[in-house]
Amino acid sequence: MKIVVTVKLVPDPNAEKKIDPTTKRLVRAGVETVLNPYDEYALEAALQLKERVGGDSTVTVFTMGPEALKETLRKALAMGADAAVMLSDAALEGSDVWATAHAMAAGLKKVGFDLLLVGGLTDDGSTGVVPGALAEHLGLALVTNARKIEVGSGSLAIERETDTGYQQVNVGLPAVLTTALTFGEPRYASLKGIMGAKKKPIEVLALADLGLGEAAGGAGSKTELLSFAPPPARGKGQVVEAADGASGAHAIFEFLRAKKLV
Ligand SMILES: Cc1cc2nc3c(=O)[nH]c(=O)nc-3n(C[C@H](O)[C@H](O)[C@H](O)COP(=O)(O)OP(=O)(O)OC[C@H]3O[C@@H](n4cnc5c(N)ncnc54)[C@H](O)[C@@H]3O)c2cc1C
Repeated sequence: MKIVVTVKLVPDPNAEKKIDPTTKRLVRAGVETVLNPYDEYALEAALQLKERVGGDSTVTVFTMGPEALKETLRKALAMGADAAVMLSDAALEGSDVWATAHAMAAGLKKVGFDLLLVGGLTDDGSTGVVPGALAEHLGLALVTNARKIEVGSGSLAIERETDTGYQQVNVGLPAVLTTALTFGEPRYASLKGIMGAKKKPIEVLALADLGLGEAAGGAGSKTELLSFAPPPARGKGQVVEAADGASGAHAIFEFLRAKKLV
């Protein structure tokens, strides 16, 4: 089974986020780039699946981003991915979600896969729209929040997590899945893995390799960011002081009633 995992390269989640007021884009210069945390969980799920299915199964990671960040993918290769593909082209700069998914789908079609695992959310853009947009562009079924994956003959039996429990879903291959965080913490790369990763291939694709013109990137974006503002500062909280639990509960109830919340 050929499993492909999308992995976005994002600024270190622990670093302070700043937006350039002129370009209205996240400032990435001077901030370490890492694998998007959600995508590490998806990669862990893919590696576990590969171990279970065995045979000639492979895991390939796929990213779209600036070529200068290519070496960040070594971590995924050190964790156990077999190969990496990066879609990188100057014309992709400024791509919105639609243009991102459009270009990524063309790249993923070229790479080919039986199963595509996509993280649920990025730490920078955080729209959560890319998985659905990718499935639409690829013309494939999308199963979100998969927490358990059983492989059948040409199909998968999936438990998908919901707010109230889980659903059992069967889907034919090829398919697109987002994974829940139930497959365990992403594994650490072993020393052997780190050494082996140095020899694993990272293929770089440009728009021309996909038969896409420059209009497919930023110029093809359908949205324009007009303005942005930080969220309003939080007001001071109100401390409820009471002699005992019952009068405290009563004071809280009156507070909520005054705000028409109960
Ligand atoms: C007008 C505009 C201009 C923009 N310009 C830029 C820009 O110049 N540079 C820039 O980096 N962003 C830019 N963005 C943001 C960019 O569109 C989003 O970061 C991108 O579409 C992904 O959306 P997201 O981060 O919300 O992904 P989500 O939908 O939250 O991601 C879900 C999952 O999709 C996968 N995924 C998403 N993006 C990628 C990726 N690039 N590679 C691999 N996997 C991925 C990951 O597995 C991820 O977990 C721009 C946005 C707008 C609206």
